[in-house]
Amino acid sequence: LKTLTDSAAMRRESRRAREAGARIGLVPTMGYLHEGHLSLVRRSRAECGFTIASLFVNPAQFSAGEDLERYPRNPERDMRLLASEGVDVVFTPEARAVYREGHSTWIDVEGPSAGLCGSFRPGHFRGVATIVAKLFNIVRPDVAYFGQKDAQQCAVVRRMAEDLDTGVDIVVCPTVREPDGLALSSRNFFLSAPERAAAPALYAALREAAGSIEAGERSAKAIAAALRDRLAATPFRIQYAEAVRARDLQSVETIEDETLIAVAAHLGATRLIDNITVRPPAGGGPGAHRSRPTESGKRTN
Ligand code: AMP
Repeated sequence: LKTLTDSAAMRRESRRAREAGARIGLVPTMGYLHEGHLSLVRRSRAECGFTIASLFVNPAQFSAGEDLERYPRNPERDMRLLASEGVDVVFTPEARAVYREGHSTWIDVEGPSAGLCGSFRPGHFRGVATIVAKLFNIVRPDVAYFGQKDAQQCAVVRRMAEDLDTGVDIVVCPTVREPDGLALSSRNFFLSAPERAAAPALYAALREAAGSIEAGERSAKAIAAALRDRLAATPFRIQYAEAVRARDLQSVETIEDETLIAVAAHLGATRLIDNITVRPPAGGGPGAHRSRPTESGKRTN
């Protein structure tokens, strides 16, 4: 396993692999790795001849008062895990080398950065889009792998990759969960034992909401309200709970297309996010049925 901190060395290494004919996969992470991250690495290893993982806690995506300083770190363990997964290179630049003196270029991805986490973490997606664009420029990957757990991040990165003609394929991998449903996250480390015991309620509430769409509920407001009610009976303090169109994260009144149900909530001092996607059954469910004409299609009066 090769570890590089220098961008120029990373660029050279990547160019060498490309010239040797390898398809290059990039897995950007902030470290403190878990099975979610490793699922991205495995996917890259399966699809690419050369896999680069980056470990960088990106200060630009944290705002003042967030958990940048206390974000969990364990680079030695991360290296061991990445080595055992057969990663070719780990790129771990220093923050001061990434954001050099005078750095003044930022990428704002207007549409998908609005709403959801974007409403509560000002500047977050600008930090994400900027670091991912920089990594794309350094590594020049063919493909980059991201997790569905951060659905809005995926939408922002996809839009950026497309709008800036990066030519990088964005692959979104399914959310990896604990057996009790809790989505793996580096921040789960912060949960106390009672908080950890309460945490599966988040995904349980999302599944229930998905179930009601599958059963025919079509009102995005009703879905969100039921989700809030359900979580009100748990220790979670909701930041947002919404059902939006999966394709573009736009709010809708009536659910017609594939829908992303997304939640951010605090458990004690820890902010967790999770989401689920669901396709409403074709032809509408019982809710839609009620407003249809009588079965024969004829009116009786
Ligand atoms: P992070 O280190 O939190 O920035 O995450 C790095 C990448 O791993 C992002 O693309 C995340 O979406 C992805 N990821 C984080 N948690 C999970 C998970 N539970 N399942 C799948 N991917 C994940």
